[in-house]
Amino acid sequence: MSAPFAASHPSIVRRAFARLIQWFDADYIPEGRDALWAEKDRVDWLRCIPFIILHGGCLGVIWVGWSPIAVWTTVALYFVRMFAVTGIHHRYFSHKSYSTSRFGQFLLAVFAGTAVQRGSLWWAYHHRHHHQHSDEPEDAHSPHVHGFWWSHIGWITSRRNFPTDYTKIRDLAKYPELVFLNRFDLIVPILLAVALFTTGGLLAHVAPGLHTTGAQMLVWGFFVSTTVLFHGTACINSFTHLWGKRRFDTTDDSRNSLVLALITLGEGWHNNHHRYQACTRQGFYWWEIDITYYGLKALSWTGFIWGLKPVPQSILDEAARADHLHTIAAAQHAASHHPDYSLSNLKKVVPAAAAIAVATATASQAAAPKKAEGPAIHRDVTEETHNLAKKTPPPAAQS
Ligand SMILES: [Zn+2]
Ligand SMILES: [Zn+2]
Repeated sequence: MSAPFAASHPSIVRRAFARLIQWFDADYIPEGRDALWAEKDRVDWLRCIPFIILHGGCLGVIWVGWSPIAVWTTVALYFVRMFAVTGIHHRYFSHKSYSTSRFGQFLLAVFAGTAVQRGSLWWAYHHRHHHQHSDEPEDAHSPHVHGFWWSHIGWITSRRNFPTDYTKIRDLAKYPELVFLNRFDLIVPILLAVALFTTGGLLAHVAPGLHTTGAQMLVWGFFVSTTVLFHGTACINSFTHLWGKRRFDTTDDSRNSLVLALITLGEGWHNNHHRYQACTRQGFYWWEIDITYYGLKALSWTGFIWGLKPVPQSILDEAARADHLHTIAAAQHAASHHPDYSLSNLKKVVPAAAAIAVATATASQAAAPKKAEGPAIHRDVTEETHNLAKKTPPPAAQS
């Protein structure tokens, strides 16, 4: 008679049990982080069951139907939480492009947790790593190294990408409240799901004319909105290194795209961002729509955040030169393909356009925020951020 499965396969049972615990405690890694990082990329299906449920939950619309209030909640939660992803996970925790108080920082982390993209520290660690190794073999989500689908969704399911390396984000890991939220990263999403279900149930009783229910609000507001939000965010990892224009000749293949900037509230200006990561805005000019920046700017007027970092003049000058050269190249290309095209006219127009661009860029700096740094919470931020830009020379060196 054969031994029971658990007795004959102790390591498999132990691993499966560990995965279940990790759904709730992301830092429970009995085999050790180093062991996971030493592994090759492979999907951890058991660990990913909550992520699969998130997508599968969208099918619930078949049973719960729809109502205008449920759909509008879905749309609103998409954009509000996209702001949290880009304005908090990215521009605050990953790059510290503005300042807030320690309590404000905690509130930001809770808000960003509603996006259901794991904890802010996990997010920041992986994102800083991306900037250090963009489009190199070490880059966990480069479409050029790993292919489109791995960069879009595969990398987040890989066993070796689940742990947070707290030693690489010491400026954040020194706050136990942030580590707690990062470790138990399912708490905030569960609270959001419960809140939506409860709200829907209440509306069904107090406002039956809205034709919604708790289940309907849960399916639309949580499952559908969060799934779309994930894929909208994932476009930054996949499409923005493939699709769009390159203003700056960075060492990676990052690109600028208005369409992606609209979907992601400003993250589509990815080539700008890869050239200079420390500033709050990613659309460097007024015509590069960056809704996250507008929201952060408005938030700064309340005093909740401050110290938004401007685009350095040397970077704007570099951008003006790059745009000028691209215009010349486009004119030469057009002239070579259309013999009647007069390059001499463009020679008169282009320098004037470049001068206007430089003047506009200079004027945009006049309103740069001057508020002093806050408490010690941010003292090491600049050093932390600039260390990430090791592959791209500092702006002064290029001016
Ligand atoms: Zn990138
Ligand atoms: Zn970044």
